[in-house]
Amino acid sequence: MAIRNIRLEGDPVLRKKSRKVEKIDDRIITLLDDMAETMKHEEGVGLAAPQVGVLRAVIIVDVGDGIIELINPRLIEWRGKEIKVEACLSIPDMSGEVERPYWVKVKGLNRKGEEVVIACEGLLARALCHEMDHLEGILFIDKVIPESR
Ligand code: ZN
Repeated sequence: MAIRNIRLEGDPVLRKKSRKVEKIDDRIITLLDDMAETMKHEEGVGLAAPQVGVLRAVIIVDVGDGIIELINPRLIEWRGKEIKVEACLSIPDMSGEVERPYWVKVKGLNRKGEEVVIACEGLLARALCHEMDHLEGILFIDKVIPESR
């Protein structure tokens, strides 16, 4: 495992769309392991592959209950709204309020290629939405409530 460099806002890779993973090979497994180590090192609650310069649909989150890895994640259901403060490892020293669904259901694959469905609320739902946005080239500052910056 290795700690990878976090790409910062202004790096064009953060604005590109990630490609779907067609085959979970050794490179994807290494990517997941390195992302976990990088996130832990940076004390983040989530990380998306573009943040380490890889344009593949891979995210991880850990809101304190262990790491969740998702390959090709898709938001399939959402309910409610909640406004909370967010931050991002790619945009240091910045935070602001963002409106997100309160509850989400997300579908994806784990590293074994098995389908996983996660239904969750609150911080975990927010972290998943934030990381999935990265796969579309969207940053939280695009959605931030301006006066909260
Ligand atoms: Zn982020």
